[in-house]
Formats: sequence, C-alpha cells, structure tokens
Amino acid sequence: MAKHNCAICGAEVGLISEQKLADGNYICRKVCVKKCMKIFNKVEATLDSVKSHIEQVEYGTKVWNQIFVPLKKTKKKEEKMKQFGKNGQLYVSPSTGLVALTENRYKIFIFGKSTIACVYRLADLYGYEYESEKVKNSDGKEETKHYCVLLFHNTPGMYEVRMEVRSREYEDMEKYFNTQFGIQKTLGNIKNTWKQQINAAKAVAGAVKAVKDGTVDDAVAENTVDALDAAVYGDRTEWIAKADAALAKVAK
Ligand SMILES: [Zn+2]
Repeated sequence: MAKHNCAICGAEVGLISEQKLADGNYICRKVCVKKCMKIFNKVEATLDSVKSHIEQVEYGTKVWNQIFVPLKKTKKKEEKMKQFGKNGQLYVSPSTGLVALTENRYKIFIFGKSTIACVYRLADLYGYEYESEKVKNSDGKEETKHYCVLLFHNTPGMYEVRMEVRSREYEDMEKYFNTQFGIQKTLGNIKNTWKQQINAAKAVAGAVKAVKDGTVDDAVAENTVDALDAAVYGDRTEWIAKADAALAKVAK
C-alpha cells in the first residue's frame, strides 16, 4: 500500500488517515482536515485553497471569540444579532457589519464544546440562493433538505457556503438580506431603490457621453460600475466602513 505524506504537516498517511485533494495532494485527517470546517469541500479543494481556508478559520475563530461571543450577551437592542440555519450556525451582526459561520466541536471525554468560525464582511455577500436536495433518511424514506448558498466576494478561503436551513427559512433570509442592503422592492423601500436606479442611469449616461467625447477614463468607468452595482446589489459603502472598523480592533 502506497504511503503518502501530509502536504501541510508532513505526517505519514495511509488509505484511512489521508484525504486526497483535487490537485493530487494528500492531507492528514488526524490534524489538518480537522482544521477545516466540515462543510468545506475538500475533494474539490487544492492545497492552496485548503491553506487559505485554514487561515480563514484561524482568523475567523479569533474574531468570533473577540467580537461575536461578547455580542451574544448584549442587552442593547441595536447590537442584537440575527441567527439563521438549521443549527443556528450563521450569525449576522448588523452593528459590526460582520457575518460568522460557526461550527461546534464537542469534546468526547471532556465536558464542553468549542466553536470554530469563518467571519465575513456583510458587504461582501453578493449571492444568497435557495437549493434543495432529496435524500433518503435512515428509515429509507425520502426527505427534502433545504440549503441557502451564500456567495462572498473578496474572500480568500471558503467563499461559497452551502448551509443547511430549516424548511421555509430561506424566504426569511432573503428578505432579511435584501432589507439590509436596501434592495427590497416593497412600497416602503421603493424610494431608495428608485434613487439608486437614477444614479445608475446618470452614471451610464455620463459614461456614454465620455466615450463620445473621447474622454472616458478609469474613474468614469469605475463610477459607472459602482452605480450599477449599487442599483442591483444595494449600496455597500456603510457596510464596508462598519466591518473594517470592527475588524481593525481585533487583537493579533
Ligand atoms: Zn497534516
């Protein structure tokens, strides 16, 4: 039987103790696989993506402990977090502009649990789509599992999160995120959406004019893209500022 070495820690691994990655590398299940979140797809991962995911979990867990754990006990209404997911694994903190995906690790012989986390900026959330899957449960009956697939921009490591949600929970999540980004097309919000669309139209008109004049430059092009993004995805400026202010306080 061929022996391999873990491409991260160097430990010798065999058929049962190894995890093969998409690029042909092997990592050890005993230590290095455990540094990844369970929902991180190792089969499709490369050594580079595993390494950046491990960094993401190490940093995220630090942020979780320093920012989210104290916030769980807050009495202030404006600091309250929103929790989503089948196990309540996703925490959204509007007061800091951060999102934490958590996983609890239970110690078998020692009482207690520990939590690892990936932390994202809410501003980088650019997709939240519904997915379902039919599976056979242990009684052989078919059941439907529900998922929300989150997609984060500007994120090294795990940037696509396929999290299991409760039945019909997705609608609540979609509505919640749309509201946070001001892209909900309800009567109360239509003014805001309309304003963004006007800004987008103006920016596009400006870019068209600039092309005609031969004065198009990067700044004009960038303004256009930003305005279009704001119309489709909502204006993220304040969310970016909030998240970066919160993350700047995280101790190394
Ligand atoms: Zn290893």
